[in-house]
This record gives sequence, structure tokens and C-alpha cells, in this order.
Amino acid sequence: MADPELFPALFVGHGSPTNALEANAYTSGWRDLGVTLPRPRAIVAVSAHWFTRGTFVTANVTPPTIHDFGGFAPELYEVSYPAPGSPVLAAELRALLAPLNAREATDWGLDHGTWSVLVHTYPRADIPIVQLSIDGTQPPEFHYAVGRMLAPLRRQGILVFGSGGIVHNLRRLARSGSPVTPPWAQEFDTWVRACVESGDHAALIDFAARGESAELSVPTPEHYLPLLYVLGTQGPGEAVTVPVSGFDLGSLSMTSFVVGG
Ligand code: ZN
Repeated sequence: MADPELFPALFVGHGSPTNALEANAYTSGWRDLGVTLPRPRAIVAVSAHWFTRGTFVTANVTPPTIHDFGGFAPELYEVSYPAPGSPVLAAELRALLAPLNAREATDWGLDHGTWSVLVHTYPRADIPIVQLSIDGTQPPEFHYAVGRMLAPLRRQGILVFGSGGIVHNLRRLARSGSPVTPPWAQEFDTWVRACVESGDHAALIDFAARGESAELSVPTPEHYLPLLYVLGTQGPGEAVTVPVSGFDLGSLSMTSFVVGG
């Protein structure tokens, strides 16, 4: 049963940073989310691109737009996403996550996992955002447990936003020609989607047991783990929808999920 008090939670496969400047099927799907989802009071973003030792929360009043990539066109380095921060929400978040001893960070801001999507979803950049880092020293079950701790935010009109990618192997991208999605990428993406839709979170936490398709799809965990945060907020019987799917550059999964709503 959908709980009308629960704000939806969102996981997005963000693909290439260049999506920030493009108009394609993925970015139009992200833009549509800004129309179909209710307007959040604030956003707590868990991005694949803030992978740390320990857990951190951005506490800046005006978080800078971080261009955390190399080798792209100059226009991409000029993108600014001047959404405000929220030191108050950062403090509330640290209290909510008290057992983790999450620390304030003022040396980070909004990285491209966050802004390359939100420039489309909330182009006015007027919703306060706090980023929560991913503690890279911890196993998948830890990240799912942190997601469960975030669930109460959904009762406060706050969007829990995970940005990563189910299949993300930069060594296997097709950067030219007509990209063909390899079977291992298709298999893993389809399997994850089926597990999400059936609510089999235990299987998703233990994704490595999937074997070769998991090894190739998740060579490093940072793009996969934001999904576990979002699923951790899911209430019993809450529906999941798939607003965007497909593969960019052959094997970069763009599959996205909305929990609730
Ligand atoms: Zn990324």
C-alpha cells in the first residue's frame, strides 16, 4: 500500500557527465521527473562520486559546483548548479545517523553525480541540497542499513536521491560506432530490475553472488551502492516504477527507479 505521507525516493543511473548539456531520451526522462514528482522541501543526495573513508555530510551554505572529471569539452566545466545547501538539514542528518559519527564537510559541494541530473529535473536550482558521502571502507549491507536510517526523511518532504549506475564499467564502454549492449550488462541490469520490482533486497545486497555478470557490471562498488541507500528507505509493499532505462555507450546502465509516489 502506498503511504501518502511518504515522499518518493529516487535512484538515477546518471551515465556520462555530458548528459548535463544534452537533450536526449534520458535527460527528457529526468526533466519529466521534475514535473511528475511532488516538489521536495530539500534533497539528500548520495552520489557515486563522493566515495570517502568514513561518512561525511556537506554543511556549506552555498555548496560549490564540483567538476570532478577530466577530458571533457570546456562548456561542461562552466556548468554551475547554484542550489543552496542547508546547514540545518546537515545537522539533522548527522543526528539521524548518530551511530555512524558522520562528520561535517565544507570541502565538498555538489558533484556531477548530483548536478548532471538535477540541472534537468530541477533547472531552477532552488531546492536545498545536502550530499551524504559513501563510506568506501564498508560492505554493501552497511550502505543498505544507512538507507534504512534515512527512511524518516521521507516523512518530512525530503527527496532521498541516489545517483550512480547499476552497470558501470568504464573499461568496457563503446565510445564509437553503433554500440551493442553486451550480454553480461543486459543480464545484470535485467536481474537487478527484477529484484527491485520483487523487493528482493537481500539478493541485491549480496549482488556479488551473481558471479561474472556482477563482476563485469560492478568492477568497483561506488556506482552501484547509491541504489542500496534508496531501497533502504522503501516501506513494506511500496511500489517501484522505472522512469528511465537503457544503456548509454553500450554498457552504461541508465536504469532509474522511483520508490513510492
Ligand atoms: Zn558517475
